[in-house]
Amino acid sequence: MLIRNARLILTMDDVGSELPDCDIRIKGGVIAQVGQGLETSDETLDAQGCLITPGLVNTHHHLYQSLTRAVPGGQDALLFGWLQTLYPIWSRFGPEEMFVSAQIGLAELMLSGCTLTSDHLYLFPNGARLDDTIAAAAEIGMRFHPTRGSMSIGESDGGLPPDSLVEQESAILEDCVRVIDAHHDAAEGSMCRVGVAPCSPFSVSRDLMRDAALLARDKGVMLHTHLAENDEDIAYSLEKFGCRPGQYAEDLGWTGDDVWHAHCVKLDGQEIDLFARSGTGVAHCPCSNCRLGSGIAPVRAMRDAGVKVGLGVDGSASNDAGNLVLEARQSMLLQRVNLGADAMSAREGLRIATRGGAEVLGRSDCGQIAVGKRADLAIWDMSRIEAAGNWDPAALLLAGPTQVRDLFIEGRRVVSSGHITSIDLPKTIARQNQMAQVLSEA
Ligand SMILES: [Zn+2]
Repeated sequence: MLIRNARLILTMDDVGSELPDCDIRIKGGVIAQVGQGLETSDETLDAQGCLITPGLVNTHHHLYQSLTRAVPGGQDALLFGWLQTLYPIWSRFGPEEMFVSAQIGLAELMLSGCTLTSDHLYLFPNGARLDDTIAAAAEIGMRFHPTRGSMSIGESDGGLPPDSLVEQESAILEDCVRVIDAHHDAAEGSMCRVGVAPCSPFSVSRDLMRDAALLARDKGVMLHTHLAENDEDIAYSLEKFGCRPGQYAEDLGWTGDDVWHAHCVKLDGQEIDLFARSGTGVAHCPCSNCRLGSGIAPVRAMRDAGVKVGLGVDGSASNDAGNLVLEARQSMLLQRVNLGADAMSAREGLRIATRGGAEVLGRSDCGQIAVGKRADLAIWDMSRIEAAGNWDPAALLLAGPTQVRDLFIEGRRVVSSGHITSIDLPKTIARQNQMAQVLSEA
């Protein structure tokens, strides 16, 4: 396949090369050639007037939550109150709810340019399994990093979730081993890498946090959780653990280049240094932080200190949208609110959304356009109304389309002329709406 005549290619290579009037050849899931006037192939795609970027990378999501967007009781609540409104609804989910909601979330990400996403699933009611979301991603064709989440401290032990949604810690660890053995592929070009992800320090014990880290290192998989999300979170850590979240993480083995934490809105200077020194990554979720009033993450300070930062749309119940390029725009705008108009450029925002996310997820084979890298490409039509009059197509986060024209994952065209090719999306949307209706009437 030859993609021809792109108006501009943003490579996201080490020096940030931008290539005008350029072609890309794809072969066997990888980028085989990049250059001007390449020899034509049997199959060509005209990209005249288009911007091509590496596929965007989403480092934090709870795909199942796309079934509980804009739930009235949770619309205006803070984090803990919001969770308590939603737990009883989520406890009625089962395998089909997990599958369908995952496909909706994945389709929404793809249409907004995403080619690689992680997911954090931490509740397994009524026979639901991580395998349900893995099957959903395989069918739609998304490069997927599902994480096996967990909660073990229920209401009767002083925790937040109802007892019906928590699991025994031994069963959690056993199932982590099962899903890693069944689905994790460490090879270059992998379409599925599994991670281990207790929900948060306030929903599992200190023992489980420590054992999860040991297990992940033993299996060679990554670790993920929520950390330092808001002021309540910091207060809880100081009260229950007698230390700040960064210290708690470090004590239990939760720092290193195989670890990434979601949010980190409230990291202080010492914690930022710790993350930079240890290679610990951050999933920055600006819309969720705005939506739940959590605050503005110190992304400028993190980047300046050398912390790896990627973007996350977070669960669709706390965003409530799942459009990744808009998330990138929000991250750029939010740094400017605090620090001024020169705090983050549109180019830097897009770099965080692509290369940054790939680095957080440990994917040196993704996140840039170069020969030998995976063929994960987002093609943006700059002739649409959103970009009419645009002087700089590279400034996609200032003005540009918010959905792709075409999307390639592992060389496969999964979005074509704005439509998902691998599943019947209108049918899946109808099924999701039916399920939301049933849940709202219960
Ligand atoms: Zn989250």
